[in-house]
Amino acid sequence: MPESVTMDKIVSLCKRRGFIFQSSEIYGGLASCWDYGPVGVELKRNVKNAWWRSIVESRGDVVGLDCSIMMHPMVWKASGHLEGFSDPLVECKACHMRWRADQLEKAACPSCEGEITEPRNFNLMFKTFMGPIEEDAAVVFLRPETAQGIFVNFENVVTTSRKRLPLGIAQMGKTFRNEITPGNFTFRTREFEQMELEFFVKPGTDEEWYQYWAKERLDWYVGLGIREENLRLRDHEKDELAHYAKACVDIEYLFPIGWSELEGIANRTDFDLSQHSKWSGKDLSYLDPQTSERYVPYVIEPSAGADRSVLAFLVDAYREEEVEGATRVVLKLHPSLAPVKVAVLPLSRNEKLTPLARDVYERLRCSFVTEYDDTQSIGRRYRRQDEIGTPLCVTIDFESLEDNQVTIRDRDTLAQIRLPIAELEGTLSAKLSGEGFGTDSLWAGARA
Ligand code: ATP
Repeated sequence: MPESVTMDKIVSLCKRRGFIFQSSEIYGGLASCWDYGPVGVELKRNVKNAWWRSIVESRGDVVGLDCSIMMHPMVWKASGHLEGFSDPLVECKACHMRWRADQLEKAACPSCEGEITEPRNFNLMFKTFMGPIEEDAAVVFLRPETAQGIFVNFENVVTTSRKRLPLGIAQMGKTFRNEITPGNFTFRTREFEQMELEFFVKPGTDEEWYQYWAKERLDWYVGLGIREENLRLRDHEKDELAHYAKACVDIEYLFPIGWSELEGIANRTDFDLSQHSKWSGKDLSYLDPQTSERYVPYVIEPSAGADRSVLAFLVDAYREEEVEGATRVVLKLHPSLAPVKVAVLPLSRNEKLTPLARDVYERLRCSFVTEYDDTQSIGRRYRRQDEIGTPLCVTIDFESLEDNQVTIRDRDTLAQIRLPIAELEGTLSAKLSGEGFGTDSLWAGARA
């Protein structure tokens, strides 16, 4: 990771261009909570859509699910979260700051070097009350992972989807963890979105599927433009494994804070289904219709964070380039992730240019997420589009009125070509889908 990409620069770009704002900012902000602005929400939707397409739509062996955030409290008893979903909390005796003991490098307060208390287990689940009476019987939890909704619906999905194992069930949605030390922008927050797949397989085939999913998920990030040298797999040590896991490998990304987890792929064995069988009294085993064997499936779980993925895509795409003696900030996002695909920019706001430019815009809007911008100088408008990662800009100038031709500018190479308006849609579409990017004859002679 080039040293020029700092978290501060990412935070500042996100605010400046409308990717991510601090929650409740006019009231001073709420710690660790973030809001996605107009371009941020598009980027995040594109990331989630790409995940859903790759995990659910493009395969025949995975179906989707969307469960409620609040679930029966017994779910968390059975899953082990009530007992075990905790981090070791320590407090500084001098300044009373609280820290996660396993993240401290030495036994002193990182803030004031004061003495710290003995660690105690702090449960990370958010508690609230369901209904009008705040009593113990009404306590419910906000889910700390989407996975449990999948496990408790396993039987419903198998019987209604008419699928056989191996079968995956995917879900994305909000989860909540009362993290002791949130921070580093959207890397660790208390409310975030997960994208989880629970892939149910026959015991004995689990290790092969585990390897398969680790590779598949790593390839997904690379396919969407993350540079391979910024990704690595890290196997968990035995003493690091979660209470339910037989094996776990993290996909780590080289964030500005160093190598950190982007996604975890775990072999959860039959732990969850067995636990839910035990506590609910329902048989959650699977009868193989072909072999008549009955077994409790094993589960391979690739679990990714939508917000953390967005952060990784932003960091990886961020570049500072010297262009004609000035620094250009550009987000080289994969075209399928870019919030805006095409920007229509009339050279100036002018009564002669506007009708043609609006006409081009209205046409392109039917095919691509397109933005129209006629404010400020053309240079400033290019800068904005570069900073939000728009792959292609279409410029309409006074000559366009004569020859019905417009200019397309390529974000990455700054190459420009001029072509008839009638050919615009086809050319943009080919460029955005990566066809002949920079190699086709049309672009071969293009100059920056
Ligand atoms: P950590 O060890 O960093 O606390 P974890 O191993 O508990 O994370 P998982 O339970 O494996 O995390 O969650 C799966 C994914 O969900 C993570 O890889 C990450 O992308 C995302 N995630 C987990 N916790 C947070 C959080 N507090 N904020 C944002 N994303 C998170």
